[in-house]
Amino acid sequence: MLKVEAIKEGTVIDHIRAGKGTRILKLLGADEKHEGSVALLSNVKSKKLGKKDIVKLEGFFPSDEKLNLIALISPEATVNIIKDSKVVEKKNVETPGELGIGHCPNPSCITNNEEMHRHFKKEGRMYRCVYCERVFLPEELV
Ligand code: ZN
Repeated sequence: MLKVEAIKEGTVIDHIRAGKGTRILKLLGADEKHEGSVALLSNVKSKKLGKKDIVKLEGFFPSDEKLNLIALISPEATVNIIKDSKVVEKKNVETPGELGIGHCPNPSCITNNEEMHRHFKKEGRMYRCVYCERVFLPEELV
């Protein structure tokens, strides 16, 4: 079993779909702005998922809004908040009902041709762009 130094204060995101860890770091802004240490474990064996990625962010506590974006890419992910080397909170990520960020994959959508807000609404497992009215898979938007 692979071991990485436990973190004292920060966030551990577990049960990420294998290969999606890098995208999640980017999504959280942990790839550039973050100053603490960041660990990404890829293709860890998992009973639940077969293989999974794990992300450890030292001294970094993303907002719930940001954490819920993880659900777009990896809905099984679990979040552990660590303080004083102990897990003080565990939570699941949930796909938001409405999204005010992201990128519409339709190249002729007005949101890709003018500076404007993005707006997607959840419909079942998909999201509909309020502007061009097309529906997309959640992971196409981030
Ligand atoms: Zn659109």
